Amino acid sequence: MALRQDAKSRLGDDVIRLWDFMTGKYDVKVYDKRTSGLMSLAGKILQRLSIMSYEQFMNGYVTTIGNRIYIPFKLGDDEGRWSYWDQIVLCAHEFQHVRQFNGSVVSFVWNYVRNPEKRALYECQAFRGNFEMEYFKWKELPYTSTMVKNKLRYYGCSEKILNNATHYIDSCIPTIELGGVVNQASKDVINWLRANAGYWELKK
Ligand SMILES: [Zn+2]
Repeated sequence: MALRQDAKSRLGDDVIRLWDFMTGKYDVKVYDKRTSGLMSLAGKILQRLSIMSYEQFMNGYVTTIGNRIYIPFKLGDDEGRWSYWDQIVLCAHEFQHVRQFNGSVVSFVWNYVRNPEKRALYECQAFRGNFEMEYFKWKELPYTSTMVKNKLRYYGCSEKILNNATHYIDSCIPTIELGGVVNQASKDVINWLRANAGYWELKK
């Protein structure tokens, strides 16, 4: 998917420039999920394994595998279910997954698909980035660990895993509320915004 396209607004342009920066930094390519044969196959497998429905996977989720990110909407366009801000938060989340691969795509995918506990841990680490981004913008958190718990319900996790995930996020929140940013992808996104589009930080 060509990132350099005409955005409809300045905010949409921020989204595209940010994603352009991050894809360059991490050598990542962005693809349209809706036209990907690989994603269609993955969606069918996930449905077969009762991890999530095909429709949910294809239209409701961004998927990162190795250095490829599959997106079911057009970056820099806010007419779908992702606002501009959602697309910025998403950037911090998905690039944290890129970092998790750590050169071992096979073991990541294997753990992700077959091991619900590891899957939950990967997601919790990436969702920490969502909290870090929200705190950066608002200097307060618009949601609690329950948000992560509810999202993980769609990732085939047991109640015990969901509760562990809640504890994990709750343990991160005090640091986040002191302004601490742990995820490197969040640091990259925040640094880029401060340097190029500082108005996204509503409170300083
Ligand atoms: Zn994720």
